[in-house]
Amino acid sequence: MKNTKELRTWLDDMNLAHPLVIAGPCSAETEEQVLKIAHELKDSDVNYYRAGIWKPRTRPGNFEGVGALGLGWLKKVKEETGMKTCTEVANAAHCKLAIEEDVDLLWIGARSTVSPFIMQEIAEALEGTDKIVLVKNPVNPDLALWLGGIERLYTAGIKNLGAIHRGFSTYDKSKYRNNPNWQLAIEFQNKFPDLPLICDPSHITGNREMIQDVSQVALDLNFDGLMIETHFDPDNAWSDAAQQVTPDTLKQIMRDLKIKKTTESATSYREPLENLRAQINVVDDQLIDLLGKRMEVAEKIGSLKKEENVAVLQSRRWNEILGNMVLEGTSKGLSEEFVLKMFKAIHQESINHQEKIING
Ligand code: PEP
Ligand code: MN
Repeated sequence: MKNTKELRTWLDDMNLAHPLVIAGPCSAETEEQVLKIAHELKDSDVNYYRAGIWKPRTRPGNFEGVGALGLGWLKKVKEETGMKTCTEVANAAHCKLAIEEDVDLLWIGARSTVSPFIMQEIAEALEGTDKIVLVKNPVNPDLALWLGGIERLYTAGIKNLGAIHRGFSTYDKSKYRNNPNWQLAIEFQNKFPDLPLICDPSHITGNREMIQDVSQVALDLNFDGLMIETHFDPDNAWSDAAQQVTPDTLKQIMRDLKIKKTTESATSYREPLENLRAQINVVDDQLIDLLGKRMEVAEKIGSLKKEENVAVLQSRRWNEILGNMVLEGTSKGLSEEFVLKMFKAIHQESINHQEKIING
């Protein structure tokens, strides 16, 4: 991809004073539902109204979307509210129908980005289109697949492009529905610095309480916009009920977000210092998360030692750990003094956790 600056023309031309906002329900359920949410969102910062009409569900038997019927409802949204519209496309037939029915922005879902065959089919179906096309990251944390999907679209002459970060699935239990792996998103930004990057905190968190915080991290990392699932009755939504917010909550989230005010074009405010600070915050969160996990393991060891009636402190094992960590640390540029201090503190905390278990 050569002239990457042109990739963000569609966004720069919008001259927004705030991040791009895409909002609307996970799924279009009924015409009334689609229109009611749209009317509640029309006097807000929302730039594009979303509604999934073909829903990729992990297991069959769940609501799989209303299909092409919903395209007519999106048309009505545009007529009645003036908001632009968007939906997910997952094959050539979807692309053809969405373009015929004048959907303004199409996105490719995480389950499609994983498949080079599907991406190629979609690229060919959209060849030369001037619609905006956003590519969600694949479900698995594979940067090359994500980049590859975008390259296929670019090669097919699609120039109004962007990406959506919606987190990655992991087998590990975590507080997120899909782990944000911010490091991977930062790497993605470094590869395609001009490509508009939108965050989807709804699918990252899977839970409406965390949407504000994840959105703020994304903006601090210079993301260009947010996609937030919005429903007037989230708890009774036909899909992704736990993560949807009401239109009022969405407006409140937008008011509470700290947004960099600037009149300059989006590319020139990528202030390196703030970006680096946001990266440090990401790493610090990971450190705390890892330390928490280490203490959970220490407690399990505590339970075993209690059963077997073994002493908490086993100094041979501890000296072995320390020696290895000093070696690892110095190879990464950390001083021996620092590694020793840090591990002594970590060790003491582990002992405290174990003792808590052993002494009940
Ligand atoms: C969605 O946006 O509703 C959706 C299905 O997203 P994803 O592809 O990220 O799972
Ligand atoms: Mn959803």
